Amino acid sequence: MKPIYRHIQPSVTMGLDTQAKALAAAGRDVINLTAGQVDLPMPEAGKAAIDMALKANMTGYVPATGSPDVKAAVRARMGWQEGEVLISAGAKPLLNAAISCLCGPEDEVILPGPCYTSYPEMVRLTGAKPIIVPGTAENGFIVPGMNIERHITAHTKALLLNNPVNPTGAVYGREALRQIVEIAKRYDLYLIADEVYGSFVYEEAFISLYSFSDARDRLILVNSASKSYAMAGLRLGYAVAPQPVAAVMGAYLSHALGCPCSLSEQAALAVLSLSDEYEQDLTSIFRDRRDRLCRALSGIEGWQVHKAPGAFYLWLDVSGWDDDEAFCRKLLDEEGVALTPGSAFCCPGYVRLAYAKDISILLEAAKRIRRFVEGSYSSSTGVNS
Ligand code: PMP
Ligand code: GLU
Repeated sequence: MKPIYRHIQPSVTMGLDTQAKALAAAGRDVINLTAGQVDLPMPEAGKAAIDMALKANMTGYVPATGSPDVKAAVRARMGWQEGEVLISAGAKPLLNAAISCLCGPEDEVILPGPCYTSYPEMVRLTGAKPIIVPGTAENGFIVPGMNIERHITAHTKALLLNNPVNPTGAVYGREALRQIVEIAKRYDLYLIADEVYGSFVYEEAFISLYSFSDARDRLILVNSASKSYAMAGLRLGYAVAPQPVAAVMGAYLSHALGCPCSLSEQAALAVLSLSDEYEQDLTSIFRDRRDRLCRALSGIEGWQVHKAPGAFYLWLDVSGWDDDEAFCRKLLDEEGVALTPGSAFCCPGYVRLAYAKDISILLEAAKRIRRFVEGSYSSSTGVNS
């Protein structure tokens, strides 16, 4: 047999989620806090729109980059005036389209770290090189512009910024974003922004990179209905990009995906027109979960739990143990709580807890984690004994 040309690492987050679900299906008592998937039902208006679309036989192809009325609804909701809007099957294909169209072998893409598990593979798929610039706990995992600048070379083509950040829950504010915009301008880089957690910001109003009008000619901004409207399985994402970039991304998507799902488009039309109250309610549910979970995990001797300002993740330092993967394995074996090791996000020594579950489940998880951590700290041999 001729060799397989490409070797791709599977998505660790999706793999762990599948494993935890399989254990639960086999009868294990597992609390699955791996995948970042909103547990709430999607808005009723979206469900009704799908029913109506089915009755109206809306099951044919739609335009490759989305139907005009859906694009208009996205533009209105997101406040995107300049640039072309593209609709596709979630944020992932749009990110892949952007990276694939902009980058190739010889190019480098800066990824502030720790970063979403799929980014390095998305970059490698194009032949380009991911350059991870690590953040540190001292600056709340916000990577300062100075550090980013040090990693720029003649090959740097783009910077991919996720804000709020998966996995740390960090939120880049105006000053940090301004630094990034200035760097992109100074070195003539494309800015690819992934703002899928934009509705999950708990302390201050979220600032989109789109609000920097001087960045729009180099900005490809991606968002989706997966988190904000609990529609991850319906696969509906949207992006805005300068016209020449949007044109090639659209051509790419027409070959790679054909078009978005016609029913999901109708659901999007309905949910995008919901009032701001929907988003405010969602944010307060998650803020409350975060606050109560952090309280339940506080006061464990030798262990700090930081209340991250965004997304729905806690980023827990487990460097006191021998490694993050062993921590997750043992926690799952002993207490039936599934978390994601930081190595999946290029940052060993940490684990990620997704608090997208009902508070009663989160409080039970906190009890088990506390028992596990206190038990392993009090034993002289540690977690791998
Ligand atoms: N970006 C980030 C940072 C994510 O955490 C995820 C996970 N859903 C995605 C993109 C993919 O989103 P979608 O479901 O819209 O493809
Ligand atoms: N984004 C989620 C996560 O980080 C879902 C899984 C995935 O898309 O990778 O867990």
